[in-house]
Amino acid sequence: MGSIYMESLILAKSNLSYWLRQLRKEMALIGPLKGENNDIVFKTVENIHEIILDCPALIPSPKEFIFPQKEDMFRFSKDKVENLRNDKKRLIFGVRSCDISAIILFDRFYGEKFVDDYYMSRRNNTVFISIGCNNPDPTCFCIGLGSGPFLSLGFDIQFSDLGDRYLVEIGSTNGMDIVKKFIHLFSQPKKSDYDDQYEAMLSSQARFEKRINLENARQKILFEKVDDSFWEGVAKRCFECGGCVYECPLCTCFNVIDRKYSETEGIRIREWDTCMFRGFTKMAGNIWPADKKVMRTKRWYFHKLIYYPEQFGKFGCVGCGRCTITCPGRIDMATIAYRLKVGENERKAD
Ligand code: SF4
Ligand code: SF4
Repeated sequence: MGSIYMESLILAKSNLSYWLRQLRKEMALIGPLKGENNDIVFKTVENIHEIILDCPALIPSPKEFIFPQKEDMFRFSKDKVENLRNDKKRLIFGVRSCDISAIILFDRFYGEKFVDDYYMSRRNNTVFISIGCNNPDPTCFCIGLGSGPFLSLGFDIQFSDLGDRYLVEIGSTNGMDIVKKFIHLFSQPKKSDYDDQYEAMLSSQARFEKRINLENARQKILFEKVDDSFWEGVAKRCFECGGCVYECPLCTCFNVIDRKYSETEGIRIREWDTCMFRGFTKMAGNIWPADKKVMRTKRWYFHKLIYYPEQFGKFGCVGCGRCTITCPGRIDMATIAYRLKVGENERKAD
């Protein structure tokens, strides 16, 4: 993570490959690459020239690299416990501003009240280079949440694409560490570079098609009556596929499982869980606090719209728009927030 630092430099695009190649000698490099199905996914970079620099705004989040979908925690036997914590150094290039905003909240969730060593170990060994979004996707709504399209703090390094060069804003000591060894590749920005970045920001802001106000939805839930039939209608449309949770850069739930190899040996793993799955909260002895689908579905919106702001002063949504693309029931966050907005209180979700 590193402490806060602020400096801006210019990197010519022609110097990017060389810089990344040098950094890859010291740490694993992860970036947006073509996936097996011709989609774009974050993967370990073998060939720098394969990094997709002009990918669309809506690419999968890199959450997997700091909070893996399945993580081996420790191996145990009768005589010893072997910790499997991952502390490899990694650089993740090409991350979106909304995902950096999500990681900032993840850091608070897993690093404030209860410190999760597994998460923190990965996080402290990971440096992010994010790129401000010049072309938001039609489903993006980070602009209404202050979580994009460009950030003013919270990043390690933020790139702004200015055509033939990047304005490189360094926001943490970890970010500065990977710049200073190769400082000869960078130059000082001119006033015209800042002007160009400002133009890029204005132009990006003007392109947003969705302006979603989650505060309206929060107030509606807190201070006006939202009929139970509204949530029943939402639940009816949920297929319990978990797609929204798996795609969301801010969903943090996990389950812990012990797998035995033999009578005396085994491994403890954790894997993502979702409040949308039928068995969520089901415990031994058939104790099942959230046994009704409506309870589980409602919980997801309440967690993001009510409990997150209570605990962190921020919504549990950064407006990435991924659930809009993923949800087959069309009950994604943007749609529900729209339906909850002040003045639509009688409307049902079905
Ligand atoms: S709730 Fe939906 S729009 Fe919000 S951060 Fe999660 S996936 Fe993105
Ligand atoms: S993506 Fe939609 S249908 Fe699937 S679990 Fe989430 S809310 Fe339900």
